[in-house]
Order: sequence, then structure tokens, then C-alpha cells
Amino acid sequence: MLDKAGDAVNWQSVDNAHHLHPFTDHKALHEGRVRVITEGDGVFLKDSDGNRILDGMAGLWCVNAGYSRPELVQAAAAQMTKLPYYNTFFKTTNPPAAALAQRLAKLAPEGINHVFFACSGSEAVDTALRTARVYWQTLGKPEKKFVIGREYGYHGSTTLGASAGGMVDMHRQAGDMPNFVQVMPPYWYGYGGQMSPAEFGIYAAKQVEDKIKELGADNVAAFIGEPLQGSGGVIIPPETYWPEINRICKEHDILLIADEVICGFGRTGKMFGSDYFGIKPDMMTVAKGITSGYIPLSAVLMHDRVANVLINQTGEYYHGFTYSGHPVACAVALKNLDIIEGEGLVERSVVMGEVLRQKFHEVFDDHPLVGDVRGIGLIGGIELSADKRTRRFFEKNGRVGQMCRDFCINNGLIMRAVRDTMVFAPPLIISHEEIDLMVALAKKSFDQTYEKVK
Ligand code: PLP
Repeated sequence: MLDKAGDAVNWQSVDNAHHLHPFTDHKALHEGRVRVITEGDGVFLKDSDGNRILDGMAGLWCVNAGYSRPELVQAAAAQMTKLPYYNTFFKTTNPPAAALAQRLAKLAPEGINHVFFACSGSEAVDTALRTARVYWQTLGKPEKKFVIGREYGYHGSTTLGASAGGMVDMHRQAGDMPNFVQVMPPYWYGYGGQMSPAEFGIYAAKQVEDKIKELGADNVAAFIGEPLQGSGGVIIPPETYWPEINRICKEHDILLIADEVICGFGRTGKMFGSDYFGIKPDMMTVAKGITSGYIPLSAVLMHDRVANVLINQTGEYYHGFTYSGHPVACAVALKNLDIIEGEGLVERSVVMGEVLRQKFHEVFDDHPLVGDVRGIGLIGGIELSADKRTRRFFEKNGRVGQMCRDFCINNGLIMRAVRDTMVFAPPLIISHEEIDLMVALAKKSFDQTYEKVK
């Protein structure tokens, strides 16, 4: 039974009885109270208690075009009416899938001209990792199997994605496949010590090269990294980092996979994070912002040098999903790209990101709880610190961040806490007034947090 918000059905108890949530301690959830989100409009959400909440995270970094866009609804309805589903196996395609592949190839960095569709970021990552293995097998180098990722990297929740990522809790529970290793992330604030950011960027890249030498380049298939590490706390690499990684992967003949699931489609102020950082990927995984989260869709964008091996030499590639190239999802993605390009949302991300960061700097640079305000485009993080001068973390990392996150949502603002970094990534359509509101709500919440921990 579906019901309107606030009507007789108690969604909280129905949910508790039957619904298992992602990344959730269910005992804690059931002891507390699940929040029922009922509506979205622009940058705002509404819950079943009637609260209006500014979504400073664009859902899970995905609602780039904002909530409730009638154009996207119409695109889905029109395609559902015409052809709601057909697969892309067995020598068939559909117009939206073909058109979207062409459009993505046009948008992607030079040389990236081929697209494999999937449904989620995790599936795209799995596809890229399997493809890396298949690529080397096809070229007669099956021993090239290792994948190098980074600590605090997040590449999804499938077993391969969890293994490639650097989230220790995920490894501990079930995500620790052989042939995956992690190295230090380019996290200057946390690991840079006395080095300048530029020195540290080279140092962090060298960890990748050292690991390749330790494993033997003949055993390494790929390096995978998010252009900036989103779920790891918006870790923005120093500008010296990616050029070194480009060089290292090329010199050691290792595929470079840029996981653009968060960074893609304007989040960083460029269409892709690879454009922003000058990354030269062999494969890019995209999801989230490709449909602004309205419908599940993801893709692996492949460079000619990888795709041509698959096309000309592999024979049948035994891989694919029932919903690969789903016509409705692709139709929504095409319309979403119309919005992103038509409304200049990538450029808007630069301008409004600058406005937002400047205001955050104004209120937080001298705030006793804040050690660092960082960001590019419309993604960023505010690092809470026990001692801003020495960049000292709080003991029991994450406790203060969670406290701050709870104050935020109770004040009507969604910010996410990653350890003790408060991260933000609002819809790219956010206005000046909404930025003012976001900053005011954040300031109030940070002040309340400081009162509790000082
Ligand atoms: N890769 C990155 C960089 C992500 O941030 C995420 C999700 O947050 C994923 C992969 C997994 O995407 P999904 O949750 O759609 O499977």
C-alpha cells in the first residue's frame, strides 16, 4: 500500500520490520528513528514530519540537476511508452543506448570513444576491473592481475569493488579478494607532515611506483583511483600527483582506471575529474550524475587502445547485465546531459563553488573547530580538528563528525561526516540565496558542536 506522507501508515515501523538498509547498523537504526523522505524539489527535500531540508549532498553526490525536473520525468515517460525495455545482448541495440554512447564519447577526453553500459557505479567498477584482466589475457599476459588502489578509496560494494577500495571495515567484513593492494592516498592534510603539498604529491605518487616495483610490473594489471577521493573525505590530490601517476602507469605498462562515479558530469567544475586533473585514463567509470540519480545507470568509457583489443582480438567477452543499455535510463541520461549542457551547469559549478567556498572560508577559517576548508567545483570538505595549528585529529576519529552531522540535519541541512570531515556536494543548480542558507545552517551546527566538545 502506498500512502501520502503523514497518513495512517507508520512508515517507520513498516521499514524497521522489513527493510535492510545499505551501510547501516540496524540495531542502532531501530533504537532511533528512520527518517522518511517523501518529496524533493530543487535543492530541498521534505520528510514525513514536514521538515524542509537543504540537501547539501545532492543525495549521494548524484542529483546534479536538482530534484523534480519535469523534463527528466517526461523523457522517462516517453521512452517507457515507446520501448520500456529491451536488452543489448544478441546483436541488438536501441536508439537511446546508441545515441548516449556517441554523446559520451564526444564528451570524454580524447581517445575515449567506446562505452559499456551497466546499472550502478559498483557494476561499472567491476566491469572495468574484469576488462583490465581480459585485456591482458588477450594480449598474452595473464599474469598481469594485481590491481593497485588507495587507502580511503571507494569503488563500490561488489566484492571486486570493495577489494579495490581502501575501506578497512569493508575488507574486514567481506571484500578482500587476492591480487588487490592499496597504497597511501594523496591526503596532504592527514599524511603530509612537514612536506609542502607539491612535495607530498610526488611522494604519494612514488608509493604507487614503489608498489609496482615490489609486485613486479609484469604482475600488475591496473591502478584505480578516484580523481579526488569523495567517500574517503574529499581528499583532493596536490597538483603534482596525477601527472606523476600518468607517467608511472605509462612507463610500467599498467592500465589507468579513473573512477569518475562522483567526479563526472560537472561536479569538479569540469565535465570529468580527469579533465580537471589532466588524468590520461585507459578507462573511466561513470554513474550517479549521468542521470542526476533519477534512474540507475552507469558506464565504463574506454580508450581506443583498450576497446580495440576487445573488439578485434578477444572474441566473445563473457560479461554483461540484463539492464546494460536500458532504453529508459539512457533516454533520461540524454535529457540530463541536455540540461547540464543547456543550463551551463559545469560552468555554474565553478562559479557557485567559488562563492560557496569563499563564504565557508569567511565563517570557518578562524573557527576553533575547523582545521581546513577545501574543495573544487561544487564538492568539498571541512576538516574538524582538535588542534588546527598542528592538524591534529580528534581521538576516536568520527565521533565529533557524527555529532556535527546530527546537528546539521536537525537544523535542516544535510552534510555528510567522513571521519571528522564534513563533506558537501550540493546540486549544481544551487542559487546564491540557497548558498547563504547552507552556510548559515552549517555555521549554527558547527557552533553547537563546538559548544559540546570544547
Ligand atoms: N565509485 C565511486 C567513486 C563511488 O563514489 C561510488 C559510490 O559512491 C561507487 C563507485 C559505487 O557506486 P554505486 O553505489 O552506484 O554502486
